[in-house]
Amino acid sequence: MPRPLDQLGRPLGVLRLSLTARCNLACPYCLPDGQEPPGLLSLQQRLRVIAAAVDLGVHSLRLTGGEPLLHHQLEALIAAVQPLRSRGLCEIALTSNGALLTAARARALRAAGLDRITLSLDGTTGAAVARMAGMAQGDAHGRERRGAALLSQVLAAIDHARAAGFDPGQGALKLNAVIQRAANDEQLLPLASLARDRGLELRLIEFMDVGNRNGWSQAAVVPAAEMVTTISARWPLEPLGRAGHRTASRWRYRDGNGAVAIVASVSEPFCGDCNRLRVTADGIAYTCLFAEPGSGVDLKPSLHDDGDPDRLQQVMAALWQRRADRYSEERHTRGLQPAPAHAEMAYLGG
Ligand code: SAM
Ligand code: SF4
Repeated sequence: MPRPLDQLGRPLGVLRLSLTARCNLACPYCLPDGQEPPGLLSLQQRLRVIAAAVDLGVHSLRLTGGEPLLHHQLEALIAAVQPLRSRGLCEIALTSNGALLTAARARALRAAGLDRITLSLDGTTGAAVARMAGMAQGDAHGRERRGAALLSQVLAAIDHARAAGFDPGQGALKLNAVIQRAANDEQLLPLASLARDRGLELRLIEFMDVGNRNGWSQAAVVPAAEMVTTISARWPLEPLGRAGHRTASRWRYRDGNGAVAIVASVSEPFCGDCNRLRVTADGIAYTCLFAEPGSGVDLKPSLHDDGDPDRLQQVMAALWQRRADRYSEERHTRGLQPAPAHAEMAYLGG
């Protein structure tokens, strides 16, 4: 089947597959449901979705959630997709909050054939980590203690991933941080410092209006330009730009100590060359992170064992060819007003 283009001439290149809507944290900017939707896909069904996507042009698979390390078949899925490399799959990546990434798990993921890990960390102190991870229970001291424990787990996860062969110098290990005004904006420089000290590229993410529960307002967004000015005043930066189809714009530290990246989906939208398809843990395909709930296409009817084997690919190709969404660019031109309803981030995957 020819590689489909959407209504705006965009090719399909990346599949973000959510393995679970559950999470072991409750970050207030994301707020997962805490339970799975009914009708989760089986490993075989996920493999068929990935294979169909690869045949339609997907070269990069990102496994996400919810928290994908909660999924007991994660390593099995990664091992099972390896044969798709001969059909055009170039990289398999994982986004995780890192709390469950033990040394053994990191080695198992590497052995299964995972290429890259991005770990998420939004603070460098127990108090900031607790706040951003949604640790709301107990007194301030208890919250800080639990935040410090999570921070230690994520720092250990960085070491475990590196020791397992995920080399930050090759882009195989990165750090994500959401920056939200009046929540953790004071953590910008400490996070940059932590990443520089560990030789990691930090990917700063503007607080986005995904889902309906995170109380998003434009006032809570720290725009990319402001983050660059703040970091540059401490460690001068030089722009490297945004590579085609990528979400992050990158800056090089002039002192030679690596680079920092910013995902500026609010202040500098990049819908124009978006090549990402998202499939939820229960097999609903969405072409936009900001899609309305219920607007996705259910792939399950095309995944019956006794069905037409070409049907799934036809359904996915047709979805991509109809695609005309450019939500972030439209939000920008609407004067940064969010749309009334979005599917939740922990459901769609990041
Ligand atoms: N649980 C994993 C984690 O946190 O890395 C994977 C799923 S999470 C939904 C993927 C990424 O989305 C994380 O880096 C998270 O910080 C980011 N994210 C979630 N909600 C966001 C929001 N409202 N704005 C910006 N980034 C967000
Ligand atoms: Fe969980 Fe990740 Fe959402 Fe935080 S951002 S609640 S770790 S899915």
